[in-house]
Amino acid sequence: MSATAETSTRHDWSLAEVRALFEQPFNDLLFQAQSVHRQHFDPNRVQVSTLLSIKTGACPEDCKYCPQSGHYNTGLDKEKLMEVQKVLEAAAEAKAIGSTRFCMGAAWKHPSAKDMPYVLEMVKGVKKLGLETCMTLGRLDQEQTQALAEAGLDYYNHNLDTSPEFYGNIITTRTYGERLQTLAYVREAGMKICSGGILGMGESVDDRAGLLIQLANLPEHPESVPINMLVKVKGTPLAEEMDVDPFDFIRTLAVARIMMPKSHVRLSAGREQMNEQMQALAFMAGANSIFYGEKLLTTANPQADKDMALFKRLGIKPEEREEHADEVHQAAIEQALVEQRDSRLFYNAASA
Ligand code: SF4
Repeated sequence: MSATAETSTRHDWSLAEVRALFEQPFNDLLFQAQSVHRQHFDPNRVQVSTLLSIKTGACPEDCKYCPQSGHYNTGLDKEKLMEVQKVLEAAAEAKAIGSTRFCMGAAWKHPSAKDMPYVLEMVKGVKKLGLETCMTLGRLDQEQTQALAEAGLDYYNHNLDTSPEFYGNIITTRTYGERLQTLAYVREAGMKICSGGILGMGESVDDRAGLLIQLANLPEHPESVPINMLVKVKGTPLAEEMDVDPFDFIRTLAVARIMMPKSHVRLSAGREQMNEQMQALAFMAGANSIFYGEKLLTTANPQADKDMALFKRLGIKPEEREEHADEVHQAAIEQALVEQRDSRLFYNAASA
């Protein structure tokens, strides 16, 4: 099958077609994904986002992978909603180290009427700093979605997590239909969608295909598709799950790239467990977005300078946000690179 034939944006993927993509020899699949990628993106640019947990722990949902669920004892401290000023300070730091998007996550079933005004202030403040804004706050109703859009929220993250068939094994407190409804409200309000899933929860290849079919067959593809590798946290029901074969993980990224050719495919949670070779393969497969520089909600994320050192070795540059590609931002990136060159870390990264 030629790469050109695969690049049109489609919304009618069947399971048989997606299975066939997964079953290709690894090299053929990667070649096809990279060919599709090059038709829509600069292959040597990767978008960087920073993710901040604005309210941690005690979530009423029972997502079996999540250390923030109040259903499991993971030793995580329960926190209140962060102060607006603290969030803005973190956003300014994220901008200084080269992030173009600031994602704010709260462990809620849905935002309460009491919390909404603070959340809206955060969106407005982060936006003023010249960053793209993204939030993940759980289920939204139509009114809340509209208010977030009016405050200037660019992206809303709401993951589908897995296939509809496997979903009930992972979450029982929120339905798949509710997730799709929130995504529909986000679109109606004119915001961009960030939605993806998690690998390594005991799902089959057909479940991975099923997740990607749900995402790709939405009326519009999500602009951002995070593909997470399960981070196994003690105390959660999935703490003892089997590791995903790294090549199967890369295959899923490649299939996502082919099915959603214009979306940013994000190498997301679990990157800490991936060595540099695997991350390089992920970029080859079409991943072109990472979280960077801060803690990824509650699990460790590789250090920002280590990321920059890897980018440098691979000849990758952070994607600029065109309308905000100012000199200050560029200077911050250059400065980070100089500091790495001067530090042992840069040289040690090769063997880390
Ligand atoms: S994944 Fe989100 S909704 Fe699910 S338990 Fe964790 S914080 Fe709550």
